[in-house]
Amino acid sequence: MRVVKFGGTSVGDPTRIVAACDIVAGKRAKGPVVVVVSAASKVTDMLLKAANAAAAGVVDAEPVVGRVRSLLDAFSLPHSLVEREVLALREALATVAKTGSLSLEHADLVASFGERFSVRTFAAVLSARGVTATAFDAFDVGMITDAQFGAAEPLSDSAARVRDALGVDGVAHAKDSVAVVTGFIGKTEDGRVTTLGRGGSDYSAALFGAAMRADEIEIWTDVDGVMTADPRVVRAARTIPVLSFTEAAELAYFGAKVLHPKTIHPAVRENIPVRVLNTFNPEGEGTVILEAGAPPDLEHPARAIASKKSITMVQVVSSRMLLAHGFLAKLFEVFARHRIAVDMVATSEVSVTLTVDRDDLLTPALNELRRIGDVQVVAGRSLVAIVGLGIGDALGIAGRVFSALARARVNIELISAGSGRANMSLVVADADADAAVRALHHAIFDERA
Ligand code: ASP
Ligand code: MG
Repeated sequence: MRVVKFGGTSVGDPTRIVAACDIVAGKRAKGPVVVVVSAASKVTDMLLKAANAAAAGVVDAEPVVGRVRSLLDAFSLPHSLVEREVLALREALATVAKTGSLSLEHADLVASFGERFSVRTFAAVLSARGVTATAFDAFDVGMITDAQFGAAEPLSDSAARVRDALGVDGVAHAKDSVAVVTGFIGKTEDGRVTTLGRGGSDYSAALFGAAMRADEIEIWTDVDGVMTADPRVVRAARTIPVLSFTEAAELAYFGAKVLHPKTIHPAVRENIPVRVLNTFNPEGEGTVILEAGAPPDLEHPARAIASKKSITMVQVVSSRMLLAHGFLAKLFEVFARHRIAVDMVATSEVSVTLTVDRDDLLTPALNELRRIGDVQVVAGRSLVAIVGLGIGDALGIAGRVFSALARARVNIELISAGSGRANMSLVVADADADAAVRALHHAIFDERA
């Protein structure tokens, strides 16, 4: 059994919906499928805007309702398919208006309608195209969560409930019909609607896949899986066929078009491969993320070159650090107390340099750091990383990295690497970041014998 998940763009306009339906039909011909869908693109944002407007006294569901109905119209489907949900949405907005403020609970209720419209539309189009399908709200097929509105977590017995409701092959309740289930949403045990957080449909797909012990989870997006570099920066970037969970997690930090590690964890834990595919290129193999990934290739361990711009480097120099114990603890305690995440660290005997990716919280922390040593802050830097299992143990990588960057006349301001690590990270000036990524990609992927 396969879980096949489509994001907002894939269910956001008639042409994409047809493409997604064709993909489902192709899979269905080969075996059982459960479909998970997001709200049509922009609909969740529109709903939250409407919820905020309602809190300010303006109840207006029409922009969303218009968008949803126009999708139905494109397939000559009756508006009555979503009538119950439209009424419930209007009622929810009226309640918010009466309350005069927007609670997290009400925001979740209003936001949930995007996916609830989406499953009904998608299942109807699928059926009309010859693949009998039934729409389900996730909470009616076992997705029961805690009451943390806006970031709910499924209860530990929800997997068993999903299995009961949909069966291990996803056809228990829907018989010969393909189940089309909402991503993103759930309900508390006492029946209040929750969401798993923005972008939560991928997480839903992984949870459903894990619950039903799917053979594979397919996440359909609008890019060719995970690429060796950002294709807008490196024209020769190509799709990475296989990634390990560790590598995917490293890349997620850099905003690579890859799933958030939390999202795929339920699947990885059950050893279920998660494949990222492109609806615009359905023949492509995409990228498959596996717990272990491909065995590290110590000759060519690099899988991708990633970068993150606009980070800030902080250097603390103190002669008191020399041979002292507890210095680093004291330093990091300051960052911890100010809730600033530190990403990269390099030390010498008398200095510590680290990077942070938001500097808006930095000022009060800097004042405290100045009591520890001389502090220098350098903004406008980029983190560039070569990611791949075994990078830290491969011979000659550093040599190639340094000469490629020297040839490109890029100055390296900080380095972090080590045995057993899945990345080598460098800091360069923002203005040099793209050139660095291109030079590294060329040296590592194109010049390979
Ligand atoms: N529709 C939700 C959002 O926009 C969930 C998702 O798309 O994954 O955040
Ligand atoms: Mg999404």
